[in-house]
Order: sequence, then structure tokens, then C-alpha cells
Amino acid sequence: MTRIPLRSDLRALSGYHSPQVDVPVRLNTNEAPFSPPAAWLDEVAAAARDIDWNRYPDRAATELREGIAALHGVSVDQVFVANGSNEVLQSILLAYAGAGGNVTMFSPTYQMHAQIARVVGATVVEGKRNADFTLDRGEIERVVAASKPAVSFICSPNNPTGTVEPRDNVEAMLAVAPGVVVVDEAYAQFSPWSALELVNDDSPLVVTRTFSKTWSMAAARLGYLVGPRWLVADMEAVVLPYHLDAFKQRAGLLALKFVGDMEARVRDIVAGRDKIVDAFSRLPVTSWPSGANFVLFRPDTLAGTTVWQGLLDRGVLVRDCSSWAGLDNCLRVTVGTDAENEAFIAAMKEVLA
Ligand code: PMP
Repeated sequence: MTRIPLRSDLRALSGYHSPQVDVPVRLNTNEAPFSPPAAWLDEVAAAARDIDWNRYPDRAATELREGIAALHGVSVDQVFVANGSNEVLQSILLAYAGAGGNVTMFSPTYQMHAQIARVVGATVVEGKRNADFTLDRGEIERVVAASKPAVSFICSPNNPTGTVEPRDNVEAMLAVAPGVVVVDEAYAQFSPWSALELVNDDSPLVVTRTFSKTWSMAAARLGYLVGPRWLVADMEAVVLPYHLDAFKQRAGLLALKFVGDMEARVRDIVAGRDKIVDAFSRLPVTSWPSGANFVLFRPDTLAGTTVWQGLLDRGVLVRDCSSWAGLDNCLRVTVGTDAENEAFIAAMKEVLA
């Protein structure tokens, strides 16, 4: 058998994987802890019977885009949808960076920004966050001036630190960046502000969102962007024909009928986050302010991996970020149901005792 080597520039990439372990309390991948509303499941099941399965889907996903546009008070031609926000990010990078373009992000941040950029052949230029994971305007200006990026990423709230990027910094980036500025808002519903208010046709700003977290639909793979009309039109040039299947278009549209349920769940998760942060304040743990459905923390007295293993031994899985650059000894816990949060806190008390 002849084995063809992977493209040489990709051999160092290991891919992005979150190890799954079969334990009772899984708080490692920032998903919603609950299933979607039962009424949504019933409607999706009925919708499956109505689909013309022998026909290609609506290539433009018009009804779904109209629904998302109405949700955000924008126009349908400002919305592009794809299979998860990761595919949205990939489409942006294909369209504007491609081979040879520079792509910037500020680490530690969501690793897929660099990973997808490398896969499309772009050059990654990483800036650095401060020790408390905030971002200096001077660093934004330095990195942008040095690299003239085709695409720049700001992740707000930032995964894995939870940091909410202030509006000033997004504006500072827009003032200097020569290319497209992407604000990745996978966790925006848990955060106090959104860059959606800055989107318009005269500004190369894109906000990306996902159905994977608040909408409890990680299994379906659905994400979107809101951006200028010209950019949404450009997405047609890079996306595969009929990339979004008919079933998912229906499932996403039906989800939008349950905005009220989704908002109630967001309130529950924010309350759960407050409880976890409160528990941290009484434990030998350093944690950072989070505007997301997860909290980054560092045990003060034990190694991160020791605590990770101790939690796992008690049936609680969190994300071990302790070997990631700039995140020595850090772990990230996703906010779960009340029972899961309590199990996590009880396990933390035992491990750190
Ligand atoms: N952006 C960020 C910051 C994320 O954390 C994630 C999920 N881990 C994504 C994008 C990708 O989400 P999706 O499931 O929509 O591809």
C-alpha cells in the first residue's frame, strides 16, 4: 500500500480534540447541559416527514436566514449560515486569507482560529493577552501593524478564559485592521454586550454565533455570521453547493420559536456560574471573571493535572488546559445543571482538602 504523506505544512498539527471519558458529570466541552425543549423535538420529528428527501435543499437557506435576521433585527442578506460556527470561520478564512494571507488572534484563545487558518494555508501571527487575560490596545495595534492581517480574530467571551472583550478594543481593532475583523461570539448570550451593534455595510466586521451552546443543538452542527452584505455575498464563492441540509435548516428555524425557553436556560446557567464562582472564592483556587458558560480556574495548592485526575476519580470531567501556552495549571469547568455543579463543587472540596 502506498501511503501519501499529509501536506508537509500540516504534519505538526494534531487536530483539536477534547478527550471524552464516560463519566456521570461531563463538564468539559461547553455544551448546554439540557436537551432542547420537548416541543421542539416533536416539531422536528414531524418536519422530518415533510422534507422532500429526494430533492436538494434550498441552497440559500432563505427561511432559516430570515428567522435569524428577525431575531437580531438585521436584513436576511446580512446572514450566512453553515455547519457549525467552525465552518463559518473556515469559509471566512477561505474567502479572505487563503494561502499566504496573515491571520491574527490573541492567545490564549480558541485554538481553532489558528488551526483552521493553517489548514487553509494562511500564516498565523499570534498576539499575547496580559497575565489576567485582558487585551491591551497597544498589543492590538502592534500585531496588526506588524502583520497587516487579512483576517483578525477577537473571541468574546474568550474561550477558554471567559474574558469579555470591551467594545473599545473591538473598535480599536476595526480602526487599524486592514482586513476582516471577526468577533467570535459563540458564548455571547451569557455575556453583557455583543458586537452585533457594530455590524454595518461600511465596516469589515463579522460576528459569528452558534446553535451549539445556548440552543442545546451541538449534535446538529449549525452556526452563522452576521456581517456586511458584500461579505455575505462573498461567502457564496467559497461555500460548497447545498452545504446546509434541508433537515438542519428546518431544525434551526424551529428552534427560533423557542427563544423564550433559551433565554430562561441562559439565566439558569448564569446563576449556576455565579454559584461556582462563589464556591471558588472559598477554596484555594484562582479564577478569572467569565462572561461565558464556563469558568477558567487554577488550583493554588496542587498541580492542575492532579486536580483534573482527582475530579475524574470522583466522576467529574473538566477540561485540562494546564499544558496550553499561557495557561499553566489551569482547568476549565463548563457550567452544568444544578446537580452537576454541586457534584463538581463537592468533588473540588474533597480533592483540595
Ligand atoms: N468558537 C468558539 C469560541 C468555540 O468555543 C466553539 C466551540 N468549541 C466554536 C466556535 C465552534 O462551535 P460550533 O459548534 O458552532 O462549530
